[in-house]
Amino acid sequence: MRLPACLGGAPAFSDPLHVGQINLPTWSAFEAGFRALFERRFYANHGPLEKELDARIAGILGVRHAVSVANGTVGLMVAARALGLTGEVVAPSFTFSGTGEALIWAGLQPVFCDVDPQTHCLTAELVEPAISSRTSAILGVHLWGRPCDPDGLETLARRYGLKLFFDGAHAIGCTHRGRLLGNFGDAEVISFHATKVVNGAEGGCIVTNDDDVADRLRACRSFHDGAPAAVDLRLNAKISEAQALMALLSLSDLPANVDANRDRYKQYRDGLVGLTGIRFVDYAAGEASNCQYVVVEVDPACGLCRDELMLALHAENILARDYFVPLHHMPPFQGNGPSVELPVADHLARTLMQFPTGQAVGAADVAGVIDAVRAILAHAPAVAEKGVS
Ligand SMILES: *Cc1c(COP(=O)(O)O)cnc(C)c1O
Repeated sequence: MRLPACLGGAPAFSDPLHVGQINLPTWSAFEAGFRALFERRFYANHGPLEKELDARIAGILGVRHAVSVANGTVGLMVAARALGLTGEVVAPSFTFSGTGEALIWAGLQPVFCDVDPQTHCLTAELVEPAISSRTSAILGVHLWGRPCDPDGLETLARRYGLKLFFDGAHAIGCTHRGRLLGNFGDAEVISFHATKVVNGAEGGCIVTNDDDVADRLRACRSFHDGAPAAVDLRLNAKISEAQALMALLSLSDLPANVDANRDRYKQYRDGLVGLTGIRFVDYAAGEASNCQYVVVEVDPACGLCRDELMLALHAENILARDYFVPLHHMPPFQGNGPSVELPVADHLARTLMQFPTGQAVGAADVAGVIDAVRAILAHAPAVAEKGVS
């Protein structure tokens, strides 16, 4: 068994291996696409590539309307505005900060809930006690591409007369009971950030099956589209032709990138599954998933706490990452809503770790990460003693 780098061994990797590796198109596809874009001299304001992207997303997800936007965060803001939300919106604390900050930008007050320890997502049971007379909507997050209790939340929203929308930033290509995410609630928002499985070099898309919501989304995302009377306030939230092109190229590569993700995911799982104290956050059997995140929970039963293991991996040039600071502890939200105890969110923030994956991470890289984890855990007492955290 090799000696971990934090105990003086050679690092597993000479260059840093990051989480959130970018998925890129081939150079020839990129060059041909941008040559055509240059020749057309149509760069913004609802050009042909935006229209093509909207049609392609609608086709892939089987939704009536896709409305592309500059990024996922403004997509959430535009969706909130187009749905006519006011007052409070119930949302999970355990998510990317943009989920909650978008609500504040939309003039809304997030009220944070805990998440289910298995799925890391909201459930109807967790949301219901947080509903008040000021609540206008529920914002679920399909974290790691796992469905955020769509059936339970749809029933709950109907019962209380609330809007329901989803942050589906991670969720393109994932299903719930065989139906693609994007088809639930009043609207769902996807991200094409460079670290996401579909990379638009920034970008996003709001999808809905409601014709009136779609009209308002289009009017709201731009000063140049839709019927301005449909909304009371607009925004420049539109996607550029260059971003739309990147997203289209990435969508063409999506099946291959998902296959690669699935292979990496299985390799990690098979390589680590027997280790005490490493709990794999599995994708639901029988559902489609884009497998873009390899997430584990690290229990001290493995011999190290999460931070000790993560920092020992950093010494190997494996930049495994922790997620997230729960939103109810973050500055924009402190004092915002009731002061609550959210033990699952706090537990996940202490124990969760993500491994590098994606198109740029090869099978040999994953094998190197697995070896490094095993070597570090085999030397756990010495690693802990050294006090890398
Ligand atoms: C990436 C992400 C967003 C924000 O998307 P951007 O396109 O980067 O603005 C929102 N929510 C979650 C859960 C995300 O991971």
